[in-house]
Amino acid sequence: MHRVGGYRPGTGDLKDMEIFLIVLGIAVGGAATYAYMSGRTAQQQVPAPKQPEQESPRNLRDPLTDALELIDHGVVVIDGRGAEIFRNSAAAVVADARDGRSLVESRVQELVVEALDGRTKRSTVELFGPPARFFEVSAFPVKIGSGNGALAMIEDRTEFRRTETIRRDFVANISHELKSPIGALGLLAETLGDEEDPELRQRLAGRMVSETSRAARTIDDLLELSRIEFGEDAEFADLEVAAVVAEAVGRIQNAADQAGVEVSAAGENGLLISGDRRQLTSAIYNLLENSVKYSDSGSGVEVGFTEDSNRRVVEIVVADQGIGIPRRDLDRVFERFYRVDPARSRNTGGTGLGLAIVRHVAANHGGKVSASSVEGQGSRFVLNLPMRVTPSAELSETGGVQ
Ligand code: ADP
Repeated sequence: MHRVGGYRPGTGDLKDMEIFLIVLGIAVGGAATYAYMSGRTAQQQVPAPKQPEQESPRNLRDPLTDALELIDHGVVVIDGRGAEIFRNSAAAVVADARDGRSLVESRVQELVVEALDGRTKRSTVELFGPPARFFEVSAFPVKIGSGNGALAMIEDRTEFRRTETIRRDFVANISHELKSPIGALGLLAETLGDEEDPELRQRLAGRMVSETSRAARTIDDLLELSRIEFGEDAEFADLEVAAVVAEAVGRIQNAADQAGVEVSAAGENGLLISGDRRQLTSAIYNLLENSVKYSDSGSGVEVGFTEDSNRRVVEIVVADQGIGIPRRDLDRVFERFYRVDPARSRNTGGTGLGLAIVRHVAANHGGKVSASSVEGQGSRFVLNLPMRVTPSAELSETGGVQ
C-alpha cells in the first residue's frame, strides 16, 4: 500500500508544498521553520533585485529541504493516498539498511497507517545488537494541501540512553561509595558513646578517623574527576615531560618509601608536550600510586618516557612488578569505581577513581592510556600524548623556509 522512495524533488504544486513544509518545520522542532521563515523574512524586508528563478516553486523549497537534510532525525512524509513524497537522508539510511534497522523501517510503516487514520503514535524500537541501539519512531497526522497525510520521525536515542545509563550508574555508585563509610561512622560513634574502656575508645576513634578520610578521599577524587572532565581551570602550556614526571615521582616518594617500593625514572630530556601541568602530574601520580599500592615491599616501579616521532607521540610508561591485573579486567579498570579486588583497594585507601582520572586526562590532551599485565608478575600502563611540534620540526616538515 505504502510506496517507499517515491519522492521526486520538484513534483507537487507550490501551495501543497508550502503547506506541507511549514507543517514539517513545526514538527521538527522549529529548525526548519526558522530556516524557511528567516529566508522569507529576509526576502520581505530587503527588496532584493528581482531574480526570477529564485521565486520559482522549485527553488522556494530548497532551503527547507536542505534544513531537513541537515537534521539528525529521520523524516518521512506520506500523502493522503499513502504514497511517500519525502524522505530525508537520515530516514533513507534506515530504509536501505540490511541489518536490524529494517525493524525500525517496519515500525515507521505501521505507525504511518495509524497516523493516516488521524492518530498520533510513538513507539520505541530496541535492537539488541551488539551493539544495542534504540530508536524512537513517531507518526503524526498532517494536512497536505486539502488532504490528510502523515509525518513520521525517526530518532536515534542510542547515545542518549547510553549517557542516561552512565549517569544513573554513577549516582548509584557514588551513593554506595559514600554510604559505607558514613554508615560505619554512625555505628562507630554509637559504640564509642557506650564504651568506657579507654583503650577501646582509642581504637574506635582511630577507626572513625580512617573512615572519615576514606569518605574525604572519595569526595576529593570525585571533585578532581569532575574538574578534569569539564576542563575547569585547565591551563595549557608547553611542558617538559621530564619535569612533569619528576614532580609526580617526588609526590609519591614518601608513600613508596613507606611501602618499601623503589621508584625510578629515566627518559629523554627535552621532550615537549602541550598540556595542563596539574592534570598531567595528577595522571602520572595516579599511575605511580597504583603501582606502589599493588606491589610488594622490595619490588620496583619504573617510569620511562620516550618519543615516537613516527606517530608524533610521547610515550610515558609506568611499569611495576606487582600483583598484576587479570586479563578479563584489563579493559574495565579505567571505569569509575571498577576494582579488581574491592577489599584490597579499600584496604590500601583506593577510591576506584584513579584510572578514570588518568583516562580523562589523556582524552583532554588528545592522547590515550592503555594497560597490559601478567597476573602475579606486574602491570604496565602506557600514556600516549601528542608531541608538541617545535618550530624547527614544523619547518623541516614543510621543507623549510628559504
Ligand atoms: P583504586 O583506587 O581502587 O586503585 P583505580 O581506578 O586507580 O582505583 O584502579 C582500578 C583498579 O585497577 C584497582 O582497584 C586495581 O584493582 C586495579 N589496578 C590499577 N592499577 C593497578 C596496578 N598497577 N597493579 C594491579 N592492579 C591495578
